[in-house]
Amino acid sequence: MEEFHCMNHPDRAAVHQCSRCGKPLCDECYNPEMQTCRMYCNSLSTTTTTAPQPKNTFWQIVVALLAIVGALALLLAAICGAMIYSY
Ligand SMILES: [Zn+2]
Ligand SMILES: [Zn+2]
Repeated sequence: MEEFHCMNHPDRAAVHQCSRCGKPLCDECYNPEMQTCRMYCNSLSTTTTTAPQPKNTFWQIVVALLAIVGALALLLAAICGAMIYSY
């Protein structure tokens, strides 16, 4: 049976595995909160959480435009309805 060793401490046996990169880790190098290695994927996950923010603003603009188009359509429908009733 093959025994894995921590990627930072070759003298220590790996008791955990990073859920992102799959590297073997010892207790000291493993982050139980993120289930990742502390030195690479822990810092990567913090940068990826800030990355999707421009996407959110893009969808906020799309939703705002749809709301404006919807409001204009309602206004047009109201004007058409008033014109029909005026006849
Ligand atoms: Zn990792
Ligand atoms: Zn280690």
